[in-house]
Amino acid sequence: LNNLHKNEFNLKFVVIGDFGVGKTSIINRYVDGEFSQKYCITIGADFSLKTIEWDDDTRIFLQLWDIAGHEKFSSLTGVFYRHSVGAAIVFDLTRPETFNSVPQWLNDLRRKTQLPDGKNIPVVILANKGDMTVDTMPQEITDFCENNNILAWYITSAKSNIQIDEAMIRLIMESLNPIE
Ligand code: GDP
Ligand code: MG
Repeated sequence: LNNLHKNEFNLKFVVIGDFGVGKTSIINRYVDGEFSQKYCITIGADFSLKTIEWDDDTRIFLQLWDIAGHEKFSSLTGVFYRHSVGAAIVFDLTRPETFNSVPQWLNDLRRKTQLPDGKNIPVVILANKGDMTVDTMPQEITDFCENNNILAWYITSAKSNIQIDEAMIRLIMESLNPIE
């Protein structure tokens, strides 16, 4: 009976970033609650669907789009980004050079996406593999977020299941109730 009264939302988020940073692992962790040490090379583009009973009145069908193959920001087409309402840009804390690609990923995303009202889609940055011992560069990341209209950033781990739910919830909240 309840189901008849639920508001249902389809949300599409894209997960982007360099090869090997953990995009597929983050999606698998979030959607299936699993982690695998293996490299699973995604071919082309792929999406996973998670149904979320958000609250008594709201059900969300969340599509998480994953890229594959040669993760080159320039090669992503409009089809991959089309109708996306949120994005996670992932880099690998153990390979700081993958943070250097974040501006290019963001630039490509901004060129190819916008909300129906013309605004930028909300973006979070995931500094992944936070289970490893690394020198973090929090100030650099915080500055980048402030200067580039990034919603938030999180140190995540797909392996240890750290802060992935939090990041997704933040993006979902922003998509449902954008802050003016
Ligand atoms: P993608 O190319 O961005 O999709 O990266 P994958 O999800 O395929 O992950 C690349 C490699 O990093 C795999 O061997 C994963 O097991 C590993 N990996 C992914 N996330 C984490 C993490 O949070 N911690 C650790 N230690 N390894 C991870
Ligand atoms: Mg992958």
